Amino acid sequence: MDKVKAWVITEPEKIELQEFERPKAAEAGALVKVEAVGVCGSDKHLLAGRGKVNLPLIAGHEFVGRVVEVGAKASETMALIGMDKLEEGDRVIVAPASTACGKCYFCKHMPHRPQLCANRLVYGFMSCAEPPHLFGAFAEYVYLHPRSWVFKVPDGMPLDKAVLAEPTSIALRGVERAMNPGEPFSGHGYGPGKSAIVYGTGPIGCLAVAHMRYTGAGCIIVTDFVESRLEMAKELGADVTINMSETTLEERLEIIRSHTDGVGPDVALEAAGAPQAFQECLEVVRRGGKLVELGHYTDPGTTEIRPFTVCNKDIDIHGAWSIPPILFKDSLTFFSKTDLPITNIITHHLGFDEVPEAIRMLGKPGVGKVIVNF
Ligand SMILES: [Zn+2]
Ligand SMILES: [Zn+2]
Repeated sequence: MDKVKAWVITEPEKIELQEFERPKAAEAGALVKVEAVGVCGSDKHLLAGRGKVNLPLIAGHEFVGRVVEVGAKASETMALIGMDKLEEGDRVIVAPASTACGKCYFCKHMPHRPQLCANRLVYGFMSCAEPPHLFGAFAEYVYLHPRSWVFKVPDGMPLDKAVLAEPTSIALRGVERAMNPGEPFSGHGYGPGKSAIVYGTGPIGCLAVAHMRYTGAGCIIVTDFVESRLEMAKELGADVTINMSETTLEERLEIIRSHTDGVGPDVALEAAGAPQAFQECLEVVRRGGKLVELGHYTDPGTTEIRPFTVCNKDIDIHGAWSIPPILFKDSLTFFSKTDLPITNIITHHLGFDEVPEAIRMLGKPGVGKVIVNF
């Protein structure tokens, strides 16, 4: 039996290389040899022990790979996009989340929000204690279960682009939450020509900027503490950059209003994951605008808000938790249509041996998206 190497988080702050038996694909399963995996902020939180998960686990949920084994019924049970049949040799992206269960309260009442399903299986967040173990992509192989969503990577698409499909879809959903479908003249929310401010220009903030530039936004303002990140956002379509460490709130308000008819942006998108950034989004968004909270995938604490501001501004506040898997399709379309230099958000490529370092370096100055190549 072949052995498969995998990086396992065994307890908070502890990650070690382990070996597992290479599993055989079940009748409705498949096996993917990982080629590249993006390191996500949530991987860092998992390693730090923040997250409601069962250890031990193999993290890594942003992956591209080649199908090496397919069960006879896999194509019947998996959701396949861009192909009719799953075949050996296919280069694929697998959405972290599974098809929703269809049975829980949320599936019955809100089927259009499959990410609320109480029984989701999510690659990179599942325990690896039991066979077939391999449900995370910081491993040489990932075992695909029957409820997987699998997207064929379009021919000729560079690996560096394909591996960004997951964070790009998260960013896309954040932007979509600010839209008001079917009400083009209502003056509500995001759409072509509308102004926006994005707090936090890490990978998700930058990708949200790129989506807005691609979909015809007006003025896009971005804020961050790190100049190199602001420059990145500019390359992806931001018009105005504001360095938080060089400005006071009053100064920022003045700059923001000077670019938004004196009233503030139509949309404020919080992608910094800092409670104070949410508070500031409330301050700067225009009356009747929309605020999207996209950055808090873990809980760093609280912030004071003034309920009067919410009421008086008559604003809409939206959360954005995870994604319906089908958004990957839109991200792949976006990749093939845009000339924006999306892969510029990748600052580091590391090898499989360096997974612990790849996770720990996130958040340090000069570090954007980190990709592990096999
Ligand atoms: Zn991610
Ligand atoms: Zn469900």
